[in-house]
Amino acid sequence: MMNLYFDRTLAEKYTSRSQMARVLTETWAKANMYCPRCGYPQLTRFQNNCKVADFFCNECKNEYELKSRNGDIGHKIMDGAYDTFVQRITSANNPDFFVMSYDLSELRVNNLWVVPKYFFTPSIVEKRKKLSSEARRAGWIGCNILFDEVPEQGKIYVVRNGVPVNVDDVVESVKKSSQLETANLDARGWLLDTLNCVNKISKEVFSLKEIYQFENELKARHPENKNIQAKIRQQLQILRDKGCLEFLERGVYRKKALH
Ligand SMILES: [Zn+2]
Repeated sequence: MMNLYFDRTLAEKYTSRSQMARVLTETWAKANMYCPRCGYPQLTRFQNNCKVADFFCNECKNEYELKSRNGDIGHKIMDGAYDTFVQRITSANNPDFFVMSYDLSELRVNNLWVVPKYFFTPSIVEKRKKLSSEARRAGWIGCNILFDEVPEQGKIYVVRNGVPVNVDDVVESVKKSSQLETANLDARGWLLDTLNCVNKISKEVFSLKEIYQFENELKARHPENKNIQAKIRQQLQILRDKGCLEFLERGVYRKKALH
């Protein structure tokens, strides 16, 4: 059974809150996290000088990076250098992410998602302002990851509102989400952007007219495309082929849970 509480004895050793939070969350993950890809019961921590990921699975070799925040996750979390991050997504040399929200007064985990790497697109990476010339790393550009731009299908709960989700269910959900895996980054961007629009329609059954209401939003994200409506129809077909949608009749669609 997953213990959601951090190790209190560790908390007493730090005066810097950010340092304490990092040690508490990483120690917690090392002790409690399993591999959500294959279900292997523990993860191994990379050595500190390894910058690419925090943990890996000895069984399936998948890698994970832990992002965490006190309170709510909010809509973005700060990450490292912008160029490095975008390059990592492009080269597919990217770990899956654990995104955790914790309560520092209670010293416990509230929510934890696993976000598989194939849900990362350049549009969820926000460029931050260049550091000023007085800064130690002048000219350096960091990034934020906009987790609210990741479709709900890519935010798989491991802990939900203080309750751990059954391991088998998590592994199953990660497997199902892999139906949405797209290697080509441009294709991935279109697919996930369209899926976000579908998710924003609150009804289970919707029409082409309703999805076309997102035309301007998609145009803003893909200004190079001159025929957005045709592209939307194409993406709906791909979503159908991947098991997210059912075509009921001409121009009428029904959402489906992945299986
Ligand atoms: Zn594994």
